[in-house]
Amino acid sequence: MKTPAPYAVTESVSRGRQHAEPPPHERGEFQRDRDRIIHSTAFRRLEYKTQVFINHEGDHFRTRLTHSLEVAQLSRSIARALGLNEELVEAIALAHDLGHTPFGHSGQDELNACMEAFGGFEHNFQSLRIVDVLEERYPAFDGLNLMFETREGILKHCSPDNIHALGELGRRFIEGRQPSLEAQVVNLTDEMAYSNHDVDDGLRSELLSLEQLDTVAIFAQCRREAEACWPGLAGRRLVHETVRRMINALALDLITQARANITQSGVETPDDVRAAPALAEYSGEMRPKLRELKAFLFKNLYRHERVLRMTNQAQRIIADLFAAYMGDLDALPPQHRARAQSNPDDIKARAIADYIAGMTDRYAVKEHRRLYGKSEANAAL
Ligand code: MG
Repeated sequence: MKTPAPYAVTESVSRGRQHAEPPPHERGEFQRDRDRIIHSTAFRRLEYKTQVFINHEGDHFRTRLTHSLEVAQLSRSIARALGLNEELVEAIALAHDLGHTPFGHSGQDELNACMEAFGGFEHNFQSLRIVDVLEERYPAFDGLNLMFETREGILKHCSPDNIHALGELGRRFIEGRQPSLEAQVVNLTDEMAYSNHDVDDGLRSELLSLEQLDTVAIFAQCRREAEACWPGLAGRRLVHETVRRMINALALDLITQARANITQSGVETPDDVRAAPALAEYSGEMRPKLRELKAFLFKNLYRHERVLRMTNQAQRIIADLFAAYMGDLDALPPQHRARAQSNPDDIKARAIADYIAGMTDRYAVKEHRRLYGKSEANAAL
């Protein structure tokens, strides 16, 4: 690792862990965070959670796990170029989607609707809840007891209801401060990763065509460059070469703009970074291009008839599971039942939401079949 820049988060300026622990041997505190995340149960479940395509649709589509690995890779490369803390960005990236429900965004929306009367459900806040409370791995504390800066990076946004319960971590939302540059970078590489891998998956699934994507400026430009370098290039290699060039263009633009912003702002410490406006951003030229690509994906992929069909079934499953557990706590496994029992309704509902959110796609389908039998809602999933 390069010598960190003065504005990078380091152990010496860290706000540390909630529960004091002896320092690790032969590795740093942020490496320890990354290792704890990789060894968590929630991390392993990402393998069977939908990003856009459900697991059984094919072996080559991204899952939450491979998406998180791609975010970690991009984050590390960009962090290294900017002199940031590579282990910290890696830890944040690997944890950023831990709180996702089964079935991607449709699962999250439905669980949020089920939880409306009980404080709602938000996957980003749930990621923090997993590392702070829900993982049961240590004798001395709940959760993973991660460093403040790792938790700060995981919590990208926060609803007003949760701000006060979070103390120091929630304060930046009240005070309008930024998180560390490491957190800012991961936030942007998340978007960079999915905007590109969804193009790849969209083409692979044939829900998108090259002709359609040629209407998107950044894609058309990178495809032209690829074809100019490799005349006659076609098929999967053309797609990969085009997507590779898009990722490269976005990453280089982000690095260049962030460097200029850092220099211009004169930040010297992570706290200077937190007090400054967002420093990690794309150039004014790149921002509309990325916006156009995202709008294209929203309209043509995320709202594609085949994806929406899956969405409707997934929502039925989540709603049915929530109703079944709320109506009969005996349907829950003992440890979740214990958390839900003899508590006010909102705590009971939260315990049920935690259980449902933790499910993989295939486990949710299996539970639905157990409780409702084979039905229209779970037949095709
Ligand atoms: Mg993500």
